[in-house]
Amino acid sequence: MIKECEVLVVGAGPAGSSAAMAAAENGARTLLIDRKKEIGTPVQCGEVVGETLLKKLNLELPPGALAARLDHTTFLLDRRVKLTSREPYWKSVTLERKIFDKALAARAAEAGSMVHADARLTDIKMDGDQVVRATIMHQGVEVNVHPKVIVAADGVHSTMSRLMNLELFTEKTLAKGLEYELISRQPLPMGMQIFLEPEVGLGYGWIIPKGPRRANVGLAAIGLEGSRRDRLQEWLMNNPMITEQFDTDQVLEVKRGDAPIPGFLGGPLRGNVLFAGDAAGQTLAFVGEGIAPSYACGMGAGMVASTAVLQNDMSKLQHYEETIGKIMGDELIEGGAIKDNILEVWTDEKIPVGDRTVICGLLMSEILGSEDLEDATDLLSMPRQEMIQTLEEILIHRKARATVSALQLR
Ligand SMILES: Cc1cc2nc3c(=O)[nH]c(=O)nc-3n(C[C@H](O)[C@H](O)[C@H](O)COP(=O)(O)OP(=O)(O)OC[C@H]3O[C@@H](n4cnc5c(N)ncnc54)[C@H](O)[C@@H]3O)c2cc1C
Repeated sequence: MIKECEVLVVGAGPAGSSAAMAAAENGARTLLIDRKKEIGTPVQCGEVVGETLLKKLNLELPPGALAARLDHTTFLLDRRVKLTSREPYWKSVTLERKIFDKALAARAAEAGSMVHADARLTDIKMDGDQVVRATIMHQGVEVNVHPKVIVAADGVHSTMSRLMNLELFTEKTLAKGLEYELISRQPLPMGMQIFLEPEVGLGYGWIIPKGPRRANVGLAAIGLEGSRRDRLQEWLMNNPMITEQFDTDQVLEVKRGDAPIPGFLGGPLRGNVLFAGDAAGQTLAFVGEGIAPSYACGMGAGMVASTAVLQNDMSKLQHYEETIGKIMGDELIEGGAIKDNILEVWTDEKIPVGDRTVICGLLMSEILGSEDLEDATDLLSMPRQEMIQTLEEILIHRKARATVSALQLR
């Protein structure tokens, strides 16, 4: 049964479970709720996490949650340029998020939090800017609780934001995605493959191996209109690098969702509600990576919320932004800045659209920085072999652990 709490955490994704774990460990009476009947299911994610962030957060993966280790990332740019990076950020692990998310919620429970699946936040009562009552539909029964602080970790389309009439980010900063978990014809290279090309739109496509012959294959783009299914099918069927690797008639799972990429919004606090994870746009905006940042920021939200409750001092909530800044500020700010550079190039109609995708890929892979933008168009106007040679020289100059070659698919 749902009981009264001091800290209510809405949403048991990585942000909510880490918030509940931190708040309960700190000694606050904590309640974690999720509307899903089974926490972690369905998956709405590519399931990949950068190794550098995992190490930085000291995040120990739950047993069974590690699907694959990926030791490189290959960028396939406008079917003309292939760039493989072995820089630390581009090494990653793939998760079984169903196992990962459920295990994180179990860790919150082990830390002492109450945890309830099939428990949906449906309404709130406000007194000024404070939420004084939350209504939860728990297995078909309506229950009211009166928390002192709430962590809203209820995802990209946050119910709490809606109920409080807030718009922390807009549709223009949402990437809409769809992917299939597919079986490959042959063993896959154990690296992520990222595709930037006009056929995908303002975003990217991916192959994220989950095992030698299993991968998440999909795309996400800003402003994606019409049927996502049709867009994905068309891309899968018409990209020779996909068709040579996969038969799209063997679909194990369909995963669909939206990723917020607004850039750094600080630690959004409204009254006694701290927003965390996707609900607060806390992703690395240039790639939409949100699992580890959400986990880290949720932890910060849980610590701040429980400290305010235990010290009976709501002014402590003001420390949220500073806390997030210390834990993830650099990464979130840098990710937002790279995304802004990518958007600038993508919307520059003076550059042919195919060339834009190549430059965006070079920015995304961090082979080029904002200071190189002026020279980037010259690079693309060179004959292909000369362009590849110039890129090789840039890689050598930067001592980048990366290789580049030409693709002849256009
Ligand atoms: C197509 C796609 C691919 C992605 N791929 C990657 C990737 O490869 N790597 C990566 O790092 N990130 C990826 N992301 C982003 C990543 O999935 C999110 O950033 C991450 O899940 C955010 O965690 P969270 O806890 O904030 O939110 P979520 O994981 O979305 O969890 C929110 C929870 O809140 C619950 N909830 C919602 N409303 C209510 C309510 N009213 N009452 C109770 N519970 C509620 C939901 O059921 C959900 O469980 C991807 C996103 C998309 C859309």
